[in-house]
Amino acid sequence: LVRLERVTKRFGDQTVLDHLDFSVEAGRHVTLIGPSGSGKTTILRLLMTLLKPDEGTITVAGDRLFPAPERQIREVRKKIGMVFQQFNLFPNMTVLRNVTEAPVTVLGLSRDEAEARARELLDLVGLADKCDARPSQLSGGQQQRVAIARALAMRPRVLLLDEVTSALDPELVAGVLDVLRDIARSTDITMLCVTHEMNFARDISDQVLMFDSGRVIESGPPEQIFGDAEHERTREFLSAVL
Ligand code: ATP
Repeated sequence: LVRLERVTKRFGDQTVLDHLDFSVEAGRHVTLIGPSGSGKTTILRLLMTLLKPDEGTITVAGDRLFPAPERQIREVRKKIGMVFQQFNLFPNMTVLRNVTEAPVTVLGLSRDEAEARARELLDLVGLADKCDARPSQLSGGQQQRVAIARALAMRPRVLLLDEVTSALDPELVAGVLDVLRDIARSTDITMLCVTHEMNFARDISDQVLMFDSGRVIESGPPEQIFGDAEHERTREFLSAVL
């Protein structure tokens, strides 16, 4: 569903991704792990078109995201949703409005349709009773669950999750993980997650990609990567973080 081919990204004279090839099949839940600075977040930012590659091609659901004309980029981009470490909710809107705003303005749904869908999603993330609250009245974990509902409201084919639990107090992490686990189980959405939390990677994913210096050095199901990694570099990394 998502394919990067020979993608190179440089910042100044630093090459962060060097002819990277990787693909994610539809419906998969893939986690990117690896040392800080290995290029994981850069990949998500490329897919969100917040950055452009210097070389290579990116395809999503068969359509070219890069290189492509601006209009096509905008269309293909709608297939991708993202949840960030910081929740970035609109502070002056209610929870319900946060979830309905983009479907109405970007997808052209009627307000009624958007609200019905938003209520379903807020129910899915356990916040059906918070529709009229403001973000500031919610805990960090609740805000992150609203951000997840907001991303899903756009009906993306792919959900990108960038360190979604790392800004949360430890006692709030489990609630967000539960919600993501439910979504992974109950929808056919493809997920691509970057995380430093190995329990998260183990729980959510059916495939783990180990990154080092802008390359995938090893990939496999979580049992294999966490239980029986092939590469010395992966074993070193895991023993440092586990
Ligand atoms: P972390 O786990 O710490 O988030 P990461 O694997 O996600 O790391 P990236 O955030 O993708 O790594 O960054 C890869 C490298 O690119 C880092 O060395 C970083 O300093 C550099 N980098 C990222 N964004 C920029 C930018 N906008 N300008 C310059 N350098 C950048």
